[in-house]
Amino acid sequence: MWDSSCNVCGGGRPGQRKTILLSTTLSIDERITTAHRAKLAYVYVRQSSPGQVRHHQESTELQYRLVERAAVFGWPRERVHVIDDDLGKSGTSSKDRHGFQTLIAEVGLGKAGLVMSLDASRLARNNRDWHQLLELCSLFGVLIADGERLYDPAAYHDRLLLGLSGIMSEAELHQIKIRLHQRERQKAARGELRLPLPAGLIHMRDGGVTFNPDEEVQERLRMVFAKFRELRSAKAVMRYLRRGNLLLPVRPLHGPAPHDVVWRPADSARVINILKNPAYAGAYVYGRRRPDPMRRRPGSDRIGTTAVAPEDWSICLKDAHPAYLDWDEFMANRRQLADNVLRYDAGRPGAPRKGNALLQGIVSCGRCARRMGLRYSGPHGDYPVYVCVADSSAEGRPRCQEVRALAVDAEVEQLILTALTPDRIVLAIAASGEIEEETRAMERRWSLKRERARYDAERARRQYDAVEPENRLVARSLERVWEERLRRADQVEQEYDAWRREQSVSISDNDRAEILALGEELPRLWRAATTRSADRKQIVRLVIKDVALDQKRRRGYVWIRVIWQTGAASEHWLQRCVQGYEQHADQDRLRQRIAELNGQQKMDGEIAAILNKEALRTAHGAPFSGGMIHVLRKRWRIQSVKINGTGANPQQWPDGSYSVQGAASAIGITPQVIFDWLRKGWLTGTQLAKGMPWQISLSPDQAAALRARVRRTNRSKREAS
Ligand SMILES: [Zn+2]
Repeated sequence: MWDSSCNVCGGGRPGQRKTILLSTTLSIDERITTAHRAKLAYVYVRQSSPGQVRHHQESTELQYRLVERAAVFGWPRERVHVIDDDLGKSGTSSKDRHGFQTLIAEVGLGKAGLVMSLDASRLARNNRDWHQLLELCSLFGVLIADGERLYDPAAYHDRLLLGLSGIMSEAELHQIKIRLHQRERQKAARGELRLPLPAGLIHMRDGGVTFNPDEEVQERLRMVFAKFRELRSAKAVMRYLRRGNLLLPVRPLHGPAPHDVVWRPADSARVINILKNPAYAGAYVYGRRRPDPMRRRPGSDRIGTTAVAPEDWSICLKDAHPAYLDWDEFMANRRQLADNVLRYDAGRPGAPRKGNALLQGIVSCGRCARRMGLRYSGPHGDYPVYVCVADSSAEGRPRCQEVRALAVDAEVEQLILTALTPDRIVLAIAASGEIEEETRAMERRWSLKRERARYDAERARRQYDAVEPENRLVARSLERVWEERLRRADQVEQEYDAWRREQSVSISDNDRAEILALGEELPRLWRAATTRSADRKQIVRLVIKDVALDQKRRRGYVWIRVIWQTGAASEHWLQRCVQGYEQHADQDRLRQRIAELNGQQKMDGEIAAILNKEALRTAHGAPFSGGMIHVLRKRWRIQSVKINGTGANPQQWPDGSYSVQGAASAIGITPQVIFDWLRKGWLTGTQLAKGMPWQISLSPDQAAALRARVRRTNRSKREAS
């Protein structure tokens, strides 16, 4: 049987091994045929670690001597290939074992007649690799030999033996691992296993542990613990350190020991690592992490691990060495960190909120395209704010942008309700009807195309069938044509399927009526007290895919880009709130009063004066100005009473009267002169209120007379000069 004792535990018995090698009882084996000898013999050599390659030279030597054995089997030296690329590599997996992979490839190419290895465990300690090799060898009629015997994988009994030895060698590896692990555990239970230490601690010559003698390291770590005591948040500590440009000592465990302490910029992970490390609380802990194959990163050689809760640490010896903080504080810190995470996850439950950010989860940053988060501001944390956290949280840099949520939400709400008004829905449904019509036409075209392709293939088959089998050349080319037609028909089917998938589902008349009814109801449902904010969010998500915000694009405005679920995009500008109006105590009274005064055709400046007289104040307690009233009117959508709204004045008003500009161009003078004449009473005009556009009455005769007068004046001026 296979003997694999020496390659891991080191307990080799070289003497015995030699006698095995020298036994040549099977040297002439009737199973080795000329066909085998016509191919190459491969000798596979492996030691599982660089240490073993160095210390068990004897074993390595022994493996190389398999070449001689191949010669005994009848392979000339030059036809024996040694594969020794895998010296120093474990047989746990074939990954990164290029030698083994080469061997598999050579066998698969039919180049090998014999594969030799000292024992099965050299080839693979993993059943999957082992059986792959066996399968290939039996398929290509390759023999396998070890230090003792020759096997033919195609023969049942040999295959059984080989299969068993594969199982044994994997089991052996398992046993070895368990033994090593148990030894390590026992040592750890006594606190004698030397575990890696964080930067603040060092191993002494006698194996004990003490503070790092570097006082700067000690001081910085004590500062981290003290700051956490004060700020209660790892992120806050990180920001504090970043502000002061204070680096953190860390000891990266790369390369061979001793691992030196290096200084690195503070980030959240480093601060948390320090706070969570029990070594700083003087504890000797074994088993803080356990292997978790699910967490292994693809392509990485390191095994995935997952953190274990302190209650479940397999070995935890308190007061094992000097400490930076006591155990109770250490545990309190861990609880605080966990609590911070929970609070963040749950969005700090408990505190009632005025605004429930409508767009949470679908809002992205218009500046850097990252998803925006949410935080609450205001004295009681009532006001939601969309925040772009762009890299700031890990490194403490200022945030990319923050946009107050309420005004944006109101704007988007308005957009949705407008988009879902019944008349819009009627239009949408009509459009979908047209699309359906088009779809039906396309469907007809497709069915013709598919039929054509099927017919072509069928005809090619009949032509192929009709030809005499003896006429090979013709048959072959017809076969090619047939295959090509079949492929084409297949492709047409696939294209058709893809097209079908793209077509939207059609709407039945029943659905149509229901959708319309819903459209009518929507505004009422939206505002109903029974509608929860979660429902509103749900509706938003059904209609809108993404909302991008940017409030640094234009001063005083928030740029909003809505990507609708249909794929359409629309852009909007929202005038930014005057800081804090939603917090204004008299908001309702203020709004009502402004609307009233506006209705009385007062201009913004007049309204401001009246409000100031009535002792109403802005959110900041300052008196109002006309500009502020303008902004508030915009926000609350109180239309200006200007006869033409906000547009430019026309030349002539609907009642036939002229605007200042209109009168000026009718007479051929500047608007400034018109104002002058109005003041002098040469022209008659009215104004709804001070600041409103003039409505100037000017009959054609009057205009002609005035034009003549202007001409005369100009002429007399020229003559005088
Ligand atoms: Zn951003």
